Amino acid sequence: MKTVTRLIKKVLETQRLSKQEIVRLLWAKDTEKAELTAAADTRRRTVFGDGVHLRGLIEFSNQCGQRCTYCGLQAGNGILSRYTMTAAEILAAAATAHDLGYRTIVLQSGQHPDMPAAKLAQLINRIKKQWPDMALTLSIGERSLEHYRRFRTAGADRYLLKQETTNERLYRQLHPQSDYNNRLQCAWNLQALGYQLGSGHMVGLPGQTAEDIADDLLFFQALNADMVGIGPFIPHPATPLADAPRPDLALVEKTVALARLLLPRSHLPATTSVESLAPQGRKAVLQAGANVVMPNVTPLCYRRDYQLYPGKAGVEQAARRLQESVETELKSIGRFSAPGRGDAPGALATIGGMPHEL
Ligand code: SAM
Repeated sequence: MKTVTRLIKKVLETQRLSKQEIVRLLWAKDTEKAELTAAADTRRRTVFGDGVHLRGLIEFSNQCGQRCTYCGLQAGNGILSRYTMTAAEILAAAATAHDLGYRTIVLQSGQHPDMPAAKLAQLINRIKKQWPDMALTLSIGERSLEHYRRFRTAGADRYLLKQETTNERLYRQLHPQSDYNNRLQCAWNLQALGYQLGSGHMVGLPGQTAEDIADDLLFFQALNADMVGIGPFIPHPATPLADAPRPDLALVEKTVALARLLLPRSHLPATTSVESLAPQGRKAVLQAGANVVMPNVTPLCYRRDYQLYPGKAGVEQAARRLQESVETELKSIGRFSAPGRGDAPGALATIGGMPHEL
């Protein structure tokens, strides 16, 4: 039996691969790659069926106190015009998401240095009271345990906090103001508070190796992440990494496929960054194990200013148009938008649970 066929058989049977085995699969080319993504696609269908969960993304503030060397929102980017949506604007965007049938909204922002926890908790509470059938995900970076508790008590269901890379040396280079272990502790705190936790990383970071990607995947597995956001790094001209190369779509597809095989029950989004990397990127990843899309419902007047990376897909399209194009794409590959909140399959077991130990 060929090595790749043997490794795929092993992970299908045991959900286990060693670091070196993952690296071998990350090197897969042509027919080997096709075999890997097909196995992941079948796994996705067995676990989740053909429904794709749509989550309405509200990019409510681009204020950020961090200086992450890859991100267009980093505090040193003085050309960006900064905004924070008002509570009324956020509520209107949530209403749009609900009207479009989305049963999850994701409130995302930079790591806003002065966003008061009380104000945000009040807003979460209003959204959850108005739309009790809608799940709420926060993605606002590192905060204290106390703040996470307040948001959870106010009704937040899920939290997306990507580790970005598990290579600590690389992490320090990319995040001069942030501490690797604090980010990790934040993830554990969120799990301890009963949030459904999303982790994730960027693929193709300058200095990142296949071994690093393998370590990341093993980390997501050990963390038992309910969601894993895997996106390509795209260089932004107003950052220190402006001249770094873009990764190949194929590497992103293989990473998503491996995530599906190692974490069969985790939600895996086809990220906006993969759509921005290549026109067929989203479709390719949806056929390599992904089962979630996060269409943007941020008001059009703010979209351009939430510029994480250049050429971000969908900045000109109103929420309804974006939904239509997602639905058309899903139909073209035999998929459809799934009803309901799309909670993590194991979520109820973790609510109120203890931190996972790595
Ligand atoms: N501030 C929050 C945090 O720290 O978790 C929310 C997310 S942050 C604003 C946006 C996400 O976009 C990051 O987690 C990162 O993975 C991604 N991102 C930022 N710059 C990027 C780039 N140049 N290419 C690809 N993805 C990027």
